[in-house]
Amino acid sequence: METIHIRASKAYDVHIGAGLLDRICALVPAKPCRAVIVTDEHVAPLYLGRLRQALDEGGYKTDVFITACGEEAKSFFWYEKLVSFLAGKRLTRTDMLFALGGGVVGDLTGFAAATYLRGIPFAQVPTTLLAAVDSSVGGKTAINLPEGKNLLGAFNQPCAVIMDTDTVKTLDRDTFTDGCGEIIKHAVLADDALFALLREKPLPENREDGALLEKIIARNVAIKQSVVERDERDTGIRNLLNLGHTFGHAIEACSGFTVKHGHAVAAGMAIVSRIAARQGICADDVPQRIEAILRAYGLPTDTQYPFEDLLAALRMDKKFSGSTLRLVLPEKIGKCRIEAIEENRLDKYLLG
Ligand code: NAD
Repeated sequence: METIHIRASKAYDVHIGAGLLDRICALVPAKPCRAVIVTDEHVAPLYLGRLRQALDEGGYKTDVFITACGEEAKSFFWYEKLVSFLAGKRLTRTDMLFALGGGVVGDLTGFAAATYLRGIPFAQVPTTLLAAVDSSVGGKTAINLPEGKNLLGAFNQPCAVIMDTDTVKTLDRDTFTDGCGEIIKHAVLADDALFALLREKPLPENREDGALLEKIIARNVAIKQSVVERDERDTGIRNLLNLGHTFGHAIEACSGFTVKHGHAVAAGMAIVSRIAARQGICADDVPQRIEAILRAYGLPTDTQYPFEDLLAALRMDKKFSGSTLRLVLPEKIGKCRIEAIEENRLDKYLLG
């Protein structure tokens, strides 16, 4: 097992390893209390029984709240249902929530935990690769509004993150690959050795290798840790984690959110690496290497959406100010910087 200690406004440990669901009581820094496990319809039949049994054996008194699957659960509807459920169970501030699932369950539960009774503790128990390497760490929680994604949220650090690496074995191929998009992003951002490892041992072909998975997830959490500890509330350096996200969000929006997040980020990362090369910020082989690894993982390197549609979506981005867009651009594999690009240069970059 790997453990990474995060020193944010609230300090906590991230534990990564095989079989951790059964050992959860030894890893959560709370006395046994009443607990609500929040999970979704796919994850419940797979892992709820084990988590509930482990908590019950540890002296917790558990209730369960099951949401719909996918992005629709990050809605007012499910948020209201969840907090009403907590109130109905008379949960107090000395009780806690467990978010068992992917980024959707983690974001919804974290936001409910931030707001119910003005805050009760919660633990993240991520079961997707994306949640393990990204959304469960760093304390961003949110639900969506009809006007846009993640518009209602809070910074709310968990009291612990327990990642049982065995759980990713049941992910479908697409969801597994999606998490790989964020892993490759972290490597391009901060770790050329991780980039080399990901090329040498492609994760989709080695997903049964528990030791490799543990090492790669831990390395990703450490990258996120180093950024979050310096800029927890996303006012400066944490923006670097948005590599690929500006175009990624535009692609997601153009697709009506049918293109998955990690896939959209992958295409966004390839696009900005081409922009960086044309600007002379990185060498020509940088976009080539990024595109090659994305293709090897079955991730996209481009988008079919017309330039005007992308631009309309980009204009909604909070990184657009006036006619300038702030983009995270690679200088080389393992190092990126933020640059302002004029809107009127984008078509030149995008349309070649
Ligand atoms: P998700 O939570 O929707 O999970 C994807 C699918 O996999 C779901 O159908 C789920 O039921 C299923 N699933 C989960 N674990 C499984 C398992 N072990 N075996 C089989 N099926 C399983 O999607 P996601 O990609 O994990 O998360 C996406 C969400 O995360 C988005 O809402 C995004 O905005 C958010 N996010 C948040 C942050 C953050 O910092 N808070 C960062 C990145 C993404």
